Amino acid sequence: MGDVAFSCSCGAVKGHLVDLGRKAGSRITCYCKDCQTAARALGRGEVLNERGGAELYQTTPAHIRIDQGEAHLACLRLSPKGLMRWYADCCNAPLFNTLAHTKLCFAGVLVHTVAPEARAPLGPLTAQTFTEGATGAGGPVRKYGFAKTGLNIMRRHLRAKLSGSASMAPFFDKDGQPVREARILTREERTAARPE
Ligand SMILES: [Zn+2]
Ligand SMILES: [Zn+2]
Repeated sequence: MGDVAFSCSCGAVKGHLVDLGRKAGSRITCYCKDCQTAARALGRGEVLNERGGAELYQTTPAHIRIDQGEAHLACLRLSPKGLMRWYADCCNAPLFNTLAHTKLCFAGVLVHTVAPEARAPLGPLTAQTFTEGATGAGGPVRKYGFAKTGLNIMRRHLRAKLSGSASMAPFFDKDGQPVREARILTREERTAARPE
Protein backbone atom coordinates (compact mmCIF):
# COMPACT_ATOMS: atom_id res chain seq x y z
CA MET A 1 0.00 0.00 0.00
CA GLY A 2 0.94 3.63 0.26
CA ASP A 3 4.18 5.34 1.16
CA VAL A 4 4.17 8.40 3.37
CA ALA A 5 6.84 11.12 3.31
CA PHE A 6 8.52 12.28 6.51
CA SER A 7 11.19 14.87 7.15
CA CYS A 8 13.06 16.63 9.91
CA SER A 9 12.00 20.20 10.62
CA CYS A 10 14.56 21.89 8.34
CA GLY A 11 14.18 19.38 5.49
CA ALA A 12 17.78 18.11 5.43
CA VAL A 13 16.64 14.63 6.45
CA LYS A 14 13.90 13.19 4.24
CA GLY A 15 12.47 9.75 3.82
CA HIS A 16 9.40 7.61 3.47
CA LEU A 17 7.41 5.22 5.58
CA VAL A 18 6.94 2.41 3.08
CA ASP A 19 4.50 -0.46 2.51
CA LEU A 20 2.00 0.84 5.01
CA GLY A 21 -0.64 -1.85 5.07
CA ARG A 22 -3.12 -1.92 7.93
CA LYS A 23 -0.85 -4.20 9.95
CA ALA A 24 2.33 -2.18 9.40
CA GLY A 25 1.96 -0.08 12.49
CA SER A 26 -0.28 1.80 14.87
CA ARG A 27 -0.55 5.30 16.20
CA ILE A 28 -0.35 6.03 19.90
CA THR A 29 0.23 9.09 22.04
CA CYS A 30 2.68 8.59 24.89
CA TYR A 31 2.58 11.01 27.79
CA CYS A 32 5.48 9.54 29.75
CA LYS A 33 8.01 11.89 31.29
CA ASP A 34 10.86 10.30 29.35
CA CYS A 35 9.40 11.14 25.94
CA GLN A 36 8.88 14.71 27.14
CA THR A 37 12.37 14.91 28.63
CA ALA A 38 13.93 13.73 25.38
CA ALA A 39 12.12 16.35 23.27
CA ARG A 40 12.92 19.10 25.76
CA ALA A 41 16.59 18.06 26.04
CA LEU A 42 16.81 18.63 22.29
CA GLY A 43 15.20 22.04 22.70
CA ARG A 44 12.18 20.82 20.75
CA GLY A 45 9.45 20.54 23.37
CA GLU A 46 7.01 22.13 20.93
CA VAL A 47 6.80 18.89 18.91
CA LEU A 48 4.78 17.45 21.82
CA ASN A 49 1.04 17.99 21.86
CA GLU A 50 -0.60 20.60 24.11
CA ARG A 51 -0.66 18.15 27.05
CA GLY A 52 2.95 16.99 26.61
CA GLY A 53 2.09 13.87 24.61
CA ALA A 54 4.49 12.45 22.04
CA GLU A 55 2.53 11.22 19.01
CA LEU A 56 4.13 8.05 17.69
CA TYR A 57 3.62 5.60 14.86
CA GLN A 58 4.84 2.26 16.16
CA THR A 59 6.16 0.02 13.42
CA THR A 60 9.25 -1.98 12.42
CA PRO A 61 12.47 -0.58 10.92
CA ALA A 62 11.74 -2.23 7.55
CA HIS A 63 8.96 0.33 7.04
CA ILE A 64 11.36 3.27 7.50
CA ARG A 65 13.48 4.44 4.59
CA ILE A 66 15.75 7.45 4.80
CA ASP A 67 16.19 8.95 1.32
CA GLN A 68 18.53 11.85 2.07
CA GLY A 69 20.44 13.43 4.92
CA GLU A 70 21.26 10.18 6.70
CA ALA A 71 24.55 11.78 7.83
CA HIS A 72 22.44 13.98 10.13
CA LEU A 73 21.06 11.00 12.02
CA ALA A 74 22.16 11.17 15.66
CA CYS A 75 21.12 9.42 18.82
CA LEU A 76 20.37 10.47 22.38
CA ARG A 77 19.68 8.40 25.49
CA LEU A 78 18.33 9.73 28.76
CA SER A 79 20.40 7.23 30.72
CA PRO A 80 22.67 4.27 29.98
CA LYS A 81 19.58 2.02 30.06
CA GLY A 82 17.20 4.27 28.17
CA LEU A 83 15.64 3.91 24.75
CA MET A 84 17.67 5.10 21.79
CA ARG A 85 16.09 8.36 20.72
CA TRP A 86 17.16 9.12 17.18
CA TYR A 87 17.08 12.72 16.03
CA ALA A 88 18.32 14.97 13.22
CA ASP A 89 21.40 16.93 14.29
CA CYS A 90 20.66 19.66 11.72
CA CYS A 91 17.57 20.98 13.56
CA ASN A 92 17.40 18.69 16.61
CA ALA A 93 14.08 17.26 15.46
CA PRO A 94 13.23 14.03 17.33
CA LEU A 95 12.61 11.42 14.63
CA PHE A 96 12.48 7.82 15.90
CA ASN A 97 12.73 5.64 19.02
CA THR A 98 14.22 2.16 19.16
CA LEU A 99 15.45 -0.16 21.85
CA ALA A 100 19.22 -0.31 22.36
CA HIS A 101 19.41 -3.85 20.95
CA THR A 102 18.01 -5.78 18.02
CA LYS A 103 16.12 -8.52 19.89
CA LEU A 104 12.79 -6.82 19.27
CA CYS A 105 11.99 -5.67 15.78
CA PHE A 106 10.52 -2.32 16.74
CA ALA A 107 10.74 1.36 15.92
CA GLY A 108 8.55 4.33 16.81
CA VAL A 109 8.27 7.26 14.39
CA LEU A 110 7.54 10.72 15.79
CA VAL A 111 4.38 11.73 13.91
CA HIS A 112 5.28 15.44 13.81
CA THR A 113 7.70 14.46 11.00
CA VAL A 114 4.72 13.66 8.73
CA ALA A 115 2.66 16.53 7.28
CA PRO A 116 -0.82 16.56 8.89
CA GLU A 117 -2.58 16.09 5.54
CA ALA A 118 -0.47 12.99 4.80
CA ARG A 119 -1.17 11.07 8.01
CA ALA A 120 -4.28 9.08 7.00
CA PRO A 121 -2.32 5.90 6.07
CA LEU A 122 -0.97 5.82 9.64
CA GLY A 123 -4.47 4.92 10.79
CA PRO A 124 -6.45 6.08 13.82
CA LEU A 125 -5.09 6.70 17.30
CA THR A 126 -5.17 3.32 19.10
CA ALA A 127 -3.77 4.14 22.54
CA GLN A 128 -2.91 6.84 25.03
CA THR A 129 -0.23 5.63 27.43
CA PHE A 130 1.33 6.88 30.68
CA THR A 131 -1.28 9.63 30.80
CA GLU A 132 -0.40 10.39 34.43
CA GLY A 133 2.55 12.22 32.88
CA ALA A 134 0.29 14.68 31.02
CA THR A 135 1.07 18.33 31.66
CA GLY A 136 -0.98 21.50 31.47
CA ALA A 137 -4.55 22.29 32.36
CA GLY A 138 -7.68 20.42 31.32
CA GLY A 139 -8.13 17.50 33.71
CA PRO A 140 -6.92 13.93 33.37
CA VAL A 141 -6.11 12.54 29.93
CA ARG A 142 -7.94 9.26 29.29
CA LYS A 143 -5.67 6.22 29.40
CA TYR A 144 -6.43 3.32 27.05
CA GLY A 145 -4.89 0.76 24.75
CA PHE A 146 -1.65 -0.06 26.60
CA ALA A 147 -2.08 -3.87 26.53
CA LYS A 148 -3.11 -3.78 22.88
CA THR A 149 -0.02 -1.73 22.11
CA GLY A 150 2.26 -4.41 23.57
CA LEU A 151 0.41 -7.14 21.70
CA ASN A 152 0.70 -5.25 18.40
CA ILE A 153 4.44 -4.76 18.93
CA MET A 154 4.88 -8.51 19.49
CA ARG A 155 2.72 -9.38 16.47
CA ARG A 156 4.72 -7.09 14.19
CA HIS A 157 7.97 -8.48 15.57
CA LEU A 158 6.90 -12.08 14.85
CA ARG A 159 5.56 -11.22 11.42
CA ALA A 160 8.85 -9.48 10.53
CA LYS A 161 10.85 -12.50 11.69
CA LEU A 162 8.65 -14.97 9.80
CA SER A 163 8.61 -12.93 6.59
CA GLY A 164 12.33 -12.23 6.54
CA SER A 165 11.83 -8.47 6.93
CA ALA A 166 13.47 -8.15 10.34
CA SER A 167 16.38 -5.98 9.20
CA MET A 168 17.08 -3.28 11.78
CA ALA A 169 18.46 -0.83 9.20
CA PRO A 170 18.67 2.16 9.16
CA PHE A 171 19.43 2.04 12.91
CA PHE A 172 21.62 -1.04 13.34
CA ASP A 173 24.12 -2.71 11.06
CA LYS A 174 24.17 -6.39 10.10
CA ASP A 175 26.10 -7.24 13.25
CA GLY A 176 23.43 -5.65 15.41
CA GLN A 177 25.53 -2.63 16.28
CA PRO A 178 23.85 0.80 16.32
CA VAL A 179 24.99 2.98 13.41
CA ARG A 180 25.63 5.89 15.80
CA GLU A 181 27.06 6.06 19.25
CA ALA A 182 24.39 7.55 21.46
CA ARG A 183 25.03 10.66 23.49
CA ILE A 184 23.88 9.90 27.03
CA LEU A 185 22.47 12.81 29.01
CA THR A 186 24.20 13.64 32.26
CA ARG A 187 22.06 13.57 35.38
CA GLU A 188 22.11 17.39 35.38
CA GLU A 189 20.98 17.61 31.76
CA ARG A 190 18.25 15.08 32.41
CA THR A 191 16.97 16.89 35.49
CA ALA A 192 17.00 20.23 33.69
CA ALA A 193 14.93 18.87 30.77
CA ARG A 194 12.41 16.93 32.86
CA PRO A 195 8.91 18.46 32.96
CA GLU A 196 7.32 19.37 36.33
ZN1 LIG B 1 16.84 19.09 10.07
ZN1 LIG C 1 6.92 7.83 26.29
